[in-house]
Amino acid sequence: MNQRRLVCVALFSALAFFLLSAFASVQDKPAGEDAKVQAAKILAQKGAYPLKRCPVSGEALGAKAVDALIDERLVRVCCSDCVEPARKDKEKIFKAIDEAVIAQQKDGYPLDTCVISGEKLGDDAVAVVQGTYLLRVCCKDCVAAVRKAPEEALKKLHEAYIAKQKADYPLETCIVTDEALGSMGDPLDYLWGTRLYRLCCGGCRKAVQKNSDELWAKLVAARAAKK
Ligand SMILES: [Zn+2]
Ligand SMILES: [Zn+2]
Ligand SMILES: [Zn+2]
Repeated sequence: MNQRRLVCVALFSALAFFLLSAFASVQDKPAGEDAKVQAAKILAQKGAYPLKRCPVSGEALGAKAVDALIDERLVRVCCSDCVEPARKDKEKIFKAIDEAVIAQQKDGYPLDTCVISGEKLGDDAVAVVQGTYLLRVCCKDCVAAVRKAPEEALKKLHEAYIAKQKADYPLETCIVTDEALGSMGDPLDYLWGTRLYRLCCGGCRKAVQKNSDELWAKLVAARAAKK
């Protein structure tokens, strides 16, 4: 192949790649890697999701419930028919989620400092909801910083939730299997929503995702018994 031909082939491949990726991004159901990324984004918000009913129909979220990702945010609806109407009404739904998140998380909030600046939070602290988590910051500039790098801010918040609950964690066994913590290597401090569950291994995470309320009731009882 001469040089000119090589350039042509390279240009053609680049164009084909560009067209393919443009096409892939307008597809409804992303395949492979994208689906995995979406599933991870849903899972990261699901534990703290505050609404028990479909924001479209008002029905309870049952076996047919769908986890939709709208503008990167989790919205849970009662059935697949409600996904499109939810997209159309997203501003109202986001507002309802924000209000419910603030109402549920403000009392147990684990930090008295701004997640961005580290400064003490005063009366003028600002509440910001990122996904399904409440974050409290010292000023409007810090709201912008949260939006710009949400992963870092959330990481700090999650670490604070874990540290606070680990201090008086009542069990030395895995909440799922009852095996001694440490029997399968380092125990896992697993935060689901705003609650810490200490697990013997990563395999127990799925059980927490499924039965978080039931397992949490066990922890509440263990905490009460220890006092
Ligand atoms: Zn529905
Ligand atoms: Zn600030
Ligand atoms: Zn376990």
